[in-house]
Amino acid sequence: MIIVLLGPGAGKGTQADKLASRLGIPKIATGDVLRSAVRDGTRRGLEAKSYMDRGDLVPDSVILGILQDVMTSPATKKGAILDGAVRTVPQAEGLGVMLAEIGKKIDKVLLFDVDDDELVKRLSTRTVCEGCQTPYMGREPGSDCEKCGGKLVRRKDDEPEAVRNRLAVYRRQTEPVIDWYRDHDVEVLEIDADAPVDKVTARALKALGKMGRGKVEAGSGKREAAGGKRGKDRAKRGSGK
Ligand code: AMP
Repeated sequence: MIIVLLGPGAGKGTQADKLASRLGIPKIATGDVLRSAVRDGTRRGLEAKSYMDRGDLVPDSVILGILQDVMTSPATKKGAILDGAVRTVPQAEGLGVMLAEIGKKIDKVLLFDVDDDELVKRLSTRTVCEGCQTPYMGREPGSDCEKCGGKLVRRKDDEPEAVRNRLAVYRRQTEPVIDWYRDHDVEVLEIDADAPVDKVTARALKALGKMGRGKVEAGSGKREAAGGKRGKDRAKRGSGK
């Protein structure tokens, strides 16, 4: 099963980890691959760094190179959770062609929906472990990571100016990907992500038709697959409000 996660950051990586372990398939986060290339000083890392620091997207050719490597590797034979790996229409097209060549396809898209104000708040108070990349909320840079003992740092692209740019880039370049998948008959499941981590995971599993062990509120009557906050934000912008 190949699942694409969309949404402008803030919690998506954590959800990707949880879904990957529940579904028994690896998480592939192009942001993590790029950050490790930057740390290792590879050619790909050098090419990507300045785009990443500004909160801009790195060129599609770099991303498609990464996706080609990972999707043809034995590690993704059973599938993958693709976290932040498809951020432009040319990337969606390129990945589709690449997968068709190896007899695979995207099964579902999960769109994590958070209010813009909440999103800016979350990103600007986030720190991440510089070693294992685990994100933390409300913990100061310089603290120790609970998982590996590494130091927590503020990502350059979580500074307020870069966050604003990332949101603008998301709207301009990534939102059209949602309709691209719908137009290509891939189901897009909208998940209200304005809730505690475990609840969001349960919502995602429920939407995928894989009930989590406990925690899923059966018969809550809430329709997860339509009309989320980001949809409303889009509608508001579209009507000029
Ligand atoms: P993330 O960790 O997913 O927030 O990604 C961090 C940064 O890496 C982004 O702001 C982009 O500069 C770059 N990046 C990661 N994935 C992609 C992608 N699919 N397309 C373009 N740039 C990407």
